[in-house]
Amino acid sequence: MKYWSEAAKRSTPYVPGEQFNDPTIMKLNTNENPYPPSPNVQEAIKQEMNEALHLYPSPTVDSLRESIAKQEGTEKESVFVGNGSDEVLAFAFMGLFSPTRTIRFPAITYSFYPVYANLFQIPYEEIPLMNNFTIDEKDFFHTKGGVILPNPNAPTSIFTSLEKLEAIIQHNPDNVVIIDEAYIDFAPESAVTLTHKYEQLLVVKTFSKSRSLAGLRVGYAIGHPNLIEALTRIKDSFNSYTIDRLAIVGAKAAMEDAAYLKETTWKIIQTRKWTQEQMEKRGFHVLPSATNFLFVQHPDYNGEQLYERLKAKKILIRHFRKSGIENYMRITIGTDKMMQQFLIVLDEIMQKT
Ligand SMILES: *Cc1c(COP(=O)(O)O)cnc(C)c1O
Repeated sequence: MKYWSEAAKRSTPYVPGEQFNDPTIMKLNTNENPYPPSPNVQEAIKQEMNEALHLYPSPTVDSLRESIAKQEGTEKESVFVGNGSDEVLAFAFMGLFSPTRTIRFPAITYSFYPVYANLFQIPYEEIPLMNNFTIDEKDFFHTKGGVILPNPNAPTSIFTSLEKLEAIIQHNPDNVVIIDEAYIDFAPESAVTLTHKYEQLLVVKTFSKSRSLAGLRVGYAIGHPNLIEALTRIKDSFNSYTIDRLAIVGAKAAMEDAAYLKETTWKIIQTRKWTQEQMEKRGFHVLPSATNFLFVQHPDYNGEQLYERLKAKKILIRHFRKSGIENYMRITIGTDKMMQQFLIVLDEIMQKT
């Protein structure tokens, strides 16, 4: 540690869900999509590999930003693209939150937020959720430094209505409100429409979940060009080329295949509904999900023990050792076949416990 900077010393890195290089493990632990990306992605990447990999990519990523803007009903100047939405979020913490003003986020939420706050020395308050795990919008009114929350929230899977989000934005006229919409394609509606109305709103999305491109690392933000400019300045102070050529053309092909997104998202939502019914039949309490995962708890079984026993049978789900949710398990929705297999193994475990 002798040679470490203060930033390196105070960092407490995020720990992602386990990744094993073992194809016999069923991964239901990091909310990846069980379906491959749009076939157009592979075509676009092949062509780019053959033609242009010896050249630097575009530092402004205009072609992809234009494509995103068109799909999202906005302008290129309102779009920022990053190396995964995690990078977009990091730049947003650095570019839009301040070390002198306290921000707020839910106490049960995406655990990367406190990591960024510590790294960039942003003071924060963690606001407890209601007893049913919903967000009380009034808790986020009149903050000193801004708000960040995922919608739907993770890991609870619960969607907060746009009316409530709009109330939060209206009651924070002088601070930035960031809505992290990693799972929005599985939910009723996006807050992107509100970015035309509120210049302090930044909506962050990713290609990792609904568009089946977790391995390509592309995320983006939509907001007023003033907010986008702040993110661009931070990015250009780190690295001109955060998005490589394959990611640019692959993400563009995925963004433009709206029919494929609709089809795969619909399938996952059907499988989610079926899996929820099956879990409830077995006595699990399932929170109402607007995502590609379920957050569940059983009154008679210990969540961590079920997680361990599933893991021993080569099925990975996510368990959080965190007060208030210690007994819950987060289960990613796979294909119908995967969920059937999951339930067979779960039944075996429950009979023996
Ligand atoms: C998965 C996830 C992200 C990160 O996505 P990447 O684009 O893969 O970096 C961000 N926020 C939430 C809430 C997520 O679940």
